[in-house]
Amino acid sequence: MYIFVVLYNIMANCLAWGEFLVEKGLFKDTKFFIIDMDGTFYLGNKLIPGATDFIERLTATGRDYCFFTNNSSHSAESCREKLAEMGFDTTKDKIIVSSHVAAHYLKNNYEGKKVYLLGNAILYDYFISQGIRLTQDNPDIVVLGFDTELTYERINKAANFLAGGAVYIATHPDLNCPVNGGFMPDTGSMIEMFAASTGRRPKVVGKPMTETVDYITSLLGCGRNELAFVGDRLATDIAVASNHGIPSALVFSGVTSPGEYGSSSIRATAAVNNIGELSYYL
Ligand SMILES: [Mg+2]
Repeated sequence: MYIFVVLYNIMANCLAWGEFLVEKGLFKDTKFFIIDMDGTFYLGNKLIPGATDFIERLTATGRDYCFFTNNSSHSAESCREKLAEMGFDTTKDKIIVSSHVAAHYLKNNYEGKKVYLLGNAILYDYFISQGIRLTQDNPDIVVLGFDTELTYERINKAANFLAGGAVYIATHPDLNCPVNGGFMPDTGSMIEMFAASTGRRPKVVGKPMTETVDYITSLLGCGRNELAFVGDRLATDIAVASNHGIPSALVFSGVTSPGEYGSSSIRATAAVNNIGELSYYL
């Protein structure tokens, strides 16, 4: 009996160790973790447990990170300030917003064209800082961002520009944005509204689109194989990875429950309760 117990324990330990080794290898090629913010690194005004430990662990293992948020109502600086208020210090060059991808895309593909922008003051300021030519009349392009100051007048103007054939670009496809105690309708919901009114659908550039992956790799000077995405939303954070052959980690600290993940066709490389648990894989 004693020998049986010893053998059983040795076998169990070997299996656990084998699993450990396999899991350790999941992110062996990753040089940059691209981390979502809301629901992944913080929730409301509090850091997710273990978030800071994860950054320390990835740094200690010779890796680096960037934040990427689809929320184009924020700037890198406003995100940096929010993180600092929660006790996490970083620099704004480590924060990428979908609006950065949109401005880059406009400059590369529509240099000098006139843009009608649906966005808040932060997004306006960013586009102006990037030399994007903004107009209120006869635009070549309508850009739909997360306009937290949207008015009926602006909806009406944009719909008529779209019906008239303007090029149509959106920063990101998220339907709702989580906020304390609930949610607010996000850019994806506005996409549906304009589709109902005009029959038009935009070219989206944020997560999960290829424009985002290409922007990140050129900014960081790395290959896709050196990236891994971390996030709480399947259709954006995990899909951007799985659509481009990049590893990913889904966290259950935000909008996706284990049950929803179980019935989804979108697969992550690893699924963990929170970003702190991801330290185990490094
Ligand atoms: Mg999120």
